[in-house]
Amino acid sequence: MHNAAIAQLGLDYVYLPFPVAAAQLSDALAGFAAIDVRGFNITIPHKQAILPLLTEVSELAQAIGAVNTVARTDTGWYGTNTDVAGFLAPLTPLKPNWSATDALVLGCGGAARAVVAGCAQLGCRKIWVAGRDRHKLIRFQQSWGTSPRPISVDICDWQDKATQLFQAGLVVNTTPIGMAPQIDQSPLTPMELQQLPAGAIVYDLIYTPCPTRLLQEAVTYGAIAIDGLEMLIQQGAAALELWLQQPVPVDIMRYALQQRMLEQKA
Ligand code: NAP
Repeated sequence: MHNAAIAQLGLDYVYLPFPVAAAQLSDALAGFAAIDVRGFNITIPHKQAILPLLTEVSELAQAIGAVNTVARTDTGWYGTNTDVAGFLAPLTPLKPNWSATDALVLGCGGAARAVVAGCAQLGCRKIWVAGRDRHKLIRFQQSWGTSPRPISVDICDWQDKATQLFQAGLVVNTTPIGMAPQIDQSPLTPMELQQLPAGAIVYDLIYTPCPTRLLQEAVTYGAIAIDGLEMLIQQGAAALELWLQQPVPVDIMRYALQQRMLEQKA
């Protein structure tokens, strides 16, 4: 999708994947600098490990504790995180004011951090996080107290999440439950979905399949469904804009990604 946008803009760049071993991350950065790479995305296992190798880290990436986008500067490398922008892109047009909306986030792993930061940015009244491991939940909650952007997070055990659903105007699945090949699974049972308030938004970060079982069932209970594909596109567009310092054709990126996914399905 990046290369489709670059071609549309008529620019002489290319976006390429490079597998980099954990022990080679520092050497890879030196190599990128030597050949004047404009910027890059990074993913597991480098999202935290790269932090000490950067000359500047955005406050948002510090708060989330993970970098997914790095741009070359005059003095070195600037790291930030575009997952929050990607997560928010399909939500912000839905409502001008989120101060009466409670959010329930399912899971407390890496993606949940961007989701919690996004819900706080929206101005949600309460942010509940449900997880299956009490210790991880408590660590997750405490980490936001000491973050550069402190956020008040309420936690609940996985088996008790139904008690929060009746007032959750926004539910976000950040677990892999329902992701291919386990497409018949869902993090919420039909009975739990029935608890949702009218007009609730159910957002699944998963994009294979698209829509997931969770979203298919949520719609039958009157919810508004958002899948993970738009977040994927928009986090990529935000990164490309940072590197190119100009607006990018998001429609072209969406089309390229959808085409590729159709090809993979065939
Ligand atoms: P992660 O760091 O491994 O976190 C996954 C979370 O889900 C953990 O809290 C994990 O709990 C929990 N979980 C897993 N299986 C569970 C189960 N059976 N019951 C209850 N909780 C369960 O993974 P991640 O990087 O956050 O990614 C999570 C999902 O988001 C993936 O499907 C990924 O593809 C998607 N994602 C999408 C985008 C996008 O752009 N659309 C971006 C990022 C991620 P434990 O820690 O106890 O295992």
